[in-house]
Amino acid sequence: MVPVESVETRAVATLSEVFSRIEHSRTADEVVQQIEGLILEGVLRVGDRLPGERELAQDFDVSRPILRNALKNLEGRGLLVTRPGGGTHVADVIGQVFAPPVMDLIAAHPKAAADYLEYRREVEGIAAEYAARRATRDDLALLDRIMARMEASHESANPQEEAAIDVEFHATIGECAHNIILLHTLRSCYRLLSDGVFRHRLLAFELPGVREELLSQHRAIHAAVADRDAARARQAAMDHITYVERSMHEAERTGDWQRVSRLRLIQRIDGARRGADRQQRQQ
Ligand SMILES: [Zn+2]
Repeated sequence: MVPVESVETRAVATLSEVFSRIEHSRTADEVVQQIEGLILEGVLRVGDRLPGERELAQDFDVSRPILRNALKNLEGRGLLVTRPGGGTHVADVIGQVFAPPVMDLIAAHPKAAADYLEYRREVEGIAAEYAARRATRDDLALLDRIMARMEASHESANPQEEAAIDVEFHATIGECAHNIILLHTLRSCYRLLSDGVFRHRLLAFELPGVREELLSQHRAIHAAVADRDAARARQAAMDHITYVERSMHEAERTGDWQRVSRLRLIQRIDGARRGADRQQRQQ
């Protein structure tokens, strides 16, 4: 399973810049509100570890009992989890639009995969359009870094890694769009990819010319967002998904051809051997 996010994409800011001082009423509720907001906005991500109690109390400028109350509240509602000896982490709650049985259903039925891509084409188009309008300088800096890593992994011909960075790239475009609902729906879509529901996806990366084409499409989306050209960004993102759809279909057909020719080969070799056995018996 390929993780959706990698540590390298984390914001450049240190964690103490992420948590800010509680200004007015220094209550547990205020702390809860701030952490909730950070999870919703995608600043804190699944699995992120919160700083230790003392440090965190300092960042928020609240007493430790108040902080403890806030953390207990968030844990009680399943937003944070404490791992024995491993600190407090953000729980796996974001992008859980599809329950596991639904994921299995989608994996088992080709029509659902087609519906997935049709839906994703629209949502991805909107995300790129909003990103071109709304991306901040920090968003663009993060996008530049991901693009540079994508280029590097393309150079080193590592399709598995490139496929993982591909997901990261789209997730970041989703963040640049600055719409929380859009972000969480997109994340749910990417979960299906990283959980390997679409087994033809990695196969598609191995088809001749596909990786080059995908890279140039990602460059086009990146450039349009950086140029703040909303219409171009939307079109580039939609064209990209149309292409992904086509190459996944192609990969599926190629996979089927490979299966058939393998069966033929086995049949021939087997047939020839059985023929030879028969001849031996007759002699
Ligand atoms: Zn892509």
